[in-house]
Parts: sequence; C-alpha cells; structure tokens
Amino acid sequence: MYKLETIISLAKHRGFVFQSSEVYGGLNGCWDYGPLGVELLKNLKKEWWKAMTYRDDVVGLDASILMHPKVWEASGHLTQFSDPMIDNKTSKARYRADNLIEEFIQKLRKKKKTDKADTLEQKLAEVKELSGYYDLIIEYGIGCPVSGSKEWTEVRNFNLMFKTFLGPLEDSKSVVYLRPETAQGIFVNFKNVMETARMKVPFGIAQIGKAFRNEINTKNFLFRTREFEQMEMQFFVKPGDDTEWYDYWKQTRHDWYVTMGMNPESIKFKDHDKLAHYANRAVDIEYNFPFGWGEIEGIHSRTDFDLQAHQKFSGKKFEYVDTVNKDRFVPFVVETSGGVSRSLMAFLCDAYTEEEITNDKGKTESRTVLKFHKKLAPVTAAVFPLVNKNGMPEAARKIYEDLQKHFKVQYDTSGAIGRRYRRQDEIGTPFCLTVDGQTLEDGTVTVRERDSMLQERVNGENIVKYIYDKML
Ligand code: ATP
Repeated sequence: MYKLETIISLAKHRGFVFQSSEVYGGLNGCWDYGPLGVELLKNLKKEWWKAMTYRDDVVGLDASILMHPKVWEASGHLTQFSDPMIDNKTSKARYRADNLIEEFIQKLRKKKKTDKADTLEQKLAEVKELSGYYDLIIEYGIGCPVSGSKEWTEVRNFNLMFKTFLGPLEDSKSVVYLRPETAQGIFVNFKNVMETARMKVPFGIAQIGKAFRNEINTKNFLFRTREFEQMEMQFFVKPGDDTEWYDYWKQTRHDWYVTMGMNPESIKFKDHDKLAHYANRAVDIEYNFPFGWGEIEGIHSRTDFDLQAHQKFSGKKFEYVDTVNKDRFVPFVVETSGGVSRSLMAFLCDAYTEEEITNDKGKTESRTVLKFHKKLAPVTAAVFPLVNKNGMPEAARKIYEDLQKHFKVQYDTSGAIGRRYRRQDEIGTPFCLTVDGQTLEDGTVTVRERDSMLQERVNGENIVKYIYDKML
C-alpha cells in the first residue's frame, strides 16, 4: 500500500489534479482536473455511461443543477440532509461528530484495542439522537485532533445544501439550492422519460452530473469534496420485485469496477448499519484507500418514497399503468449512486505501482507506473522517433497523426528512449511506439506494452487496427 501523499504528489506534478484557485491559496474542498485528469475523468464517465445505458432497459438524462425548491421539501433534504456538527471550544475546530468517533475507533484498532473499538462501533450504530454522539465523545474521552482538548460544545445539525438566489432579488422567495444529489432530477422527470422513450417497468434512468454538499470537513484529497460529480441510475420496478433487482444491481455494479481493472481484493460490500429515511435496503461498495476502507458507490432500495413524495407535493400522478396485466402502481426504485471523483481516486490508487525492473542494458532500475485499464488510461499511445533525424520524425509524425484521429496520443522526441518510456509509464500510457531505422526499410514500428514491457514489431499501416483490437 502506497502513501496517499505519494499519489497526490504524482497527480499534481503530472497534471492530473490541481487545488482549485491555487494561486489564491486554494479553495477548501474543491479541485481542478488538469490535462491528464480530465482525460481520465472523461474515460471513466464514458465507460460508466456505456455500461449503464447501452442496454435495452436504461436511458439517459441530463437535468439542471438548480431545481424548484419544492423538490427538496418533498425529498426530505430541507429537514433531513444534515450532519451532526460539534465544535471544540479550545481550538475552535469544527468536526462531524460521527466522523470524530469513527476516527477514534480506527485509532483504537491501530492500538489493537479491538474489544473497546467493537463496543464503541456498536454504540455508534445505535445512536438515535444528536445528544447520543455527545455522550459517546465524553464517555470515551475523545479529544480534539488539533489541540487534544476535551472541551466540546453540544452537537447540532448542519444542513449540507448550498443556498443561492434565483434572479435579482435576494429574498426568501427566491432561495434555490445547488442540488446535493442528481437523483431528484431523475425522479421529477420519471413520467417525461417513461412516456417519451416509451419505457415499460422495469426500466432505469441514468445521469452523470455535478452535485454540491457543504461538507463540514473535507479531507483525503478527492474523497470528500464540496463540489463533485455523481454517476447515478434509478431503476423503476414493480413493488415486490425490488429485492431481486437490488441483488442484481449490487453485483453488477461491483463487477463493473473489477472489469475496469480494479483489484477485486481491494473492494468489498458493506451493508448499512443505519438506513436513510427513504431506504429499505442499502449497501456500499467500499475501496481500500491508503487511509482505510471508504465508500465509492451506494446501492439503495428506495421503495416508492421519492415518487410518492413528489406525487404528494406536486399534485401530479406518478403511477405506472400496466396495460397488459391491468395493473397500476407507483414503482419502487433501486438506485446505484457512485461518485465520479471518488472512483477516479480509487482507480488512481489502484493503478499506482512502484517496481524494480531490468532495463535494456541489463541494469536494475525502479519505475513508477500507473497500471490503468487501457480504456481508462488518459493517453492511449505515445509515438517516438528513435532519433530526431534521418527521416524518422517524418515517419513518426505520420503514424502519430493517423492515430490521433482515433485515440488520445502523445508525440515525444526528447531524451533517451528509456526516459521516454518512464515518462509514459508514470501517466499510465499502455502503448509506446518507436520509429527506428527498420521502419524506414520495412514500415514496421516497435510497440512496447506498458505492464509486461514486451516489444513486438507491427506494420505501421495496421497500427490503428492493432490498438483497437488490444483495447477490446
Ligand atoms: P458519505 O457517507 O461518505 O458522506 P453518502 O453516503 O452521503 O457518503 P451518497 O449520498 O450515497 O453518499 O452519495 C453517493 C456517492 O456520491 C458516494 O458513494 C460517493 O462516491 C459520492 N459522494 C458523496 N459525497 C461526496 C463528497 N462530499 N465528495 C465526493 N464524492 C461524494
């Protein structure tokens, strides 16, 4: 397991991720994706989109970020979308009370105080009121991670939705919220989509888009940020069929991460101890990050909670009429809700490898390599002329330009070939193509594969097809 700092440092110096507004000291909980980060992000979303919507029973949607304020009343977000917050009187630092206790549990586990950790975990799962968190913090003598002080305020609720105003008047009538999840955009469009796309239950609506949460604490790089993207799908089923579909989507979503190259031993399911107000079953897919296990996606069986709520608040019918079986019902919903940036971070951590290799001269050297799945890698291929003369740059540029019509490719002429390989390994490029003297004679180039480092000669004319075949 590599340190998170090492991975963050690579992400920064190779242009994957920058701190937002860095020149002004940064903006907490917000990140910018650089030239390589944005390619990775787009590839991730493209693969998710293909897996989720290139099928008979799921269609896509792109709803707006600002929605009618009634949406958040109906969904329960106005009253319930809050986290328990506690302040330390000495350091003035502010914490999410449940996270403070969870971190203390992790510390106990590190110190091998397993029984104490288990008991506290159990008690935390049973907390029903805000005062319950406070009582545990006092009972276990949990101190402030900054100052060590045990002087705490009461625990209060903090609503995570960002508020703003629609139009020029800043009064209570024009308050709107930046959506804290993409799901509600799907629910309110349920009828529009079903009728226009002529969908029949069971069917799903998928959406990728930004969501905003004014998190009390942000940390661990991209894991908990205030602005992030979600990739969500709501699957509408006949009441009673929800368990079967829940099991199906739980497994399907888990398997997707593995198909996209994630080490199966680094992901696991974790059932929710406490269910959200809308769910009857819920499970997280967790990844083993350098700081411990953390959720990357949630699968929730949401019953008919949302559609019933919107039916009530809007006065419109959200029923499905089954003309074949002469039946009508408000569908139940199974949701798959993943974070794009959290998954990106999991894929980045999973791909990061440092290894000893034997170079062309038989010497041992170390290399850093991002072992991304070929479909996720920000750059698919790099093209190098062996030397920058003797007709090699012209031949290399021709191949580079052919490839560029199909893939994201880089052209690099600087430094020894070994150094050029290392630069591409470090950003996870699966194929490096070298044009040399032989290319000018017989038209073949050397293709070197990133992980095995094996090389083979391929006809330059067939290189586009060669890479397409390898990407399958
Ligand atoms: P957590 O318990 O970590 O706050 P959650 O259970 O509230 O997360 P969901 O509401 O289920 O999360 O959101 C679905 C997905 O959206 C999560 O699995 C995660 O990948 C992503 N996500 C949620 N909050 C954030 C955030 N603050 N930053 C980045 N991604 C997030």
